[in-house]
Amino acid sequence: MRMRTIYFDNNATTRVADEVLEEMKPFFCKLYGNPSSMHTFGGQTSRHISKAREQVANLLGCDPSEIIFTSGGTESDNAAIRGAVAAAPNKRKVITSRVEHPAVLSVCREVENHGYTVVELGVDKSGRLDIGELEERLDDDTAMVTIMYANNETGVIFPIEKVAELVGSRGVVFHTDAVQAVGKISMNLSKSGIDLLSLSGHKLHAPKGVGALYVRKGTRIAPFMLGGHQESGRRAGTENVPGIVGLGKACELAAGHIEEENTKVKYLRDKLEDALLAKCADSRLNGDKKNRLPNTSNISFEFIEGEAILLLLDKFGICASSGSACTSGSLEPSHVMRAMGVPFTAAHGSIRFSLSRYNTEEEVDYTIAKMPQIVNQLRELSPFVAK
Ligand code: PLP
Repeated sequence: MRMRTIYFDNNATTRVADEVLEEMKPFFCKLYGNPSSMHTFGGQTSRHISKAREQVANLLGCDPSEIIFTSGGTESDNAAIRGAVAAAPNKRKVITSRVEHPAVLSVCREVENHGYTVVELGVDKSGRLDIGELEERLDDDTAMVTIMYANNETGVIFPIEKVAELVGSRGVVFHTDAVQAVGKISMNLSKSGIDLLSLSGHKLHAPKGVGALYVRKGTRIAPFMLGGHQESGRRAGTENVPGIVGLGKACELAAGHIEEENTKVKYLRDKLEDALLAKCADSRLNGDKKNRLPNTSNISFEFIEGEAILLLLDKFGICASSGSACTSGSLEPSHVMRAMGVPFTAAHGSIRFSLSRYNTEEEVDYTIAKMPQIVNQLRELSPFVAK
């Protein structure tokens, strides 16, 4: 049995890059001062925060003053949605999509409990957004629109620039959850209609617990975290200096690796996907094959349970994730699979493989060799397969 872990769960989290860890180290035991302190020892850390702000801004193509550091994707999403809604008190509608991450959907549903109308736009069977529906539902009562850049389960990329243009033409604030897209798709926010954008460090080889929110100059949002005057009064709380320094370095590295994501990582993903679809009977791809993140593949193996597949993959040291969540004893297919209308028997057996630049061809070949065996073994036991 193979002892080394093969990690194909990079949309869940990524390993911290060695260069990122090295950059962070001095900020734990040597340069541990509070950036807000009056003394030189503390104050000197603030220039490292400024450097990180520039590194993040460079990756996104925006001005450093437009970056607010947060604790991660969830906080950025919360801050953007709550902040934009609070800044438009006379408007009572929020538009989102049915396939957002819970960090967006849960906030929208809470907003709904406060008397707002929340519109959840649908997707087609390939997970593509219905822009016509967006156009129809946008009106003068819309406080903000929040639609993800790329889906975490399928990797499907939405036409965000087109969406931003449409929303902006109606004078409405537009937020995008780009947690899965940053570092994989090149962006130039200075030329974009996006007003607010969320990113998360641990999805791009920085540590967990740090992220950022891009706020386009002039966009009105009410601060979400109140307290001290950090981040120019836009996000209170003593800065996570090591995390911020790590995020900056990870963004600098990501800018240099986007090409590799779209060549080497994509090649490995395609090799894995093509072989699994060819070698495993009754398997199907979930999501638009063309407009997809280069690292993500979501495949349904019909008539068997995703959880069972994951357990057997785990025995071979292979980490992936499943599209169904076992909540309170009932196996519910994910909201994304349901929104796409993936049949029940397929949604249950959906597995997400998400790669990174640290994966190798040998790992892909090993998985290709093991997977048909796993699928056949489970099909033998499946009550849905005629024997
Ligand atoms: N948004 C998307 C699309 C995600 O995939 C995730 C994490 O999986 C989040 C938001 C939440 O980010 P974080 O884990 O940094 O809070």
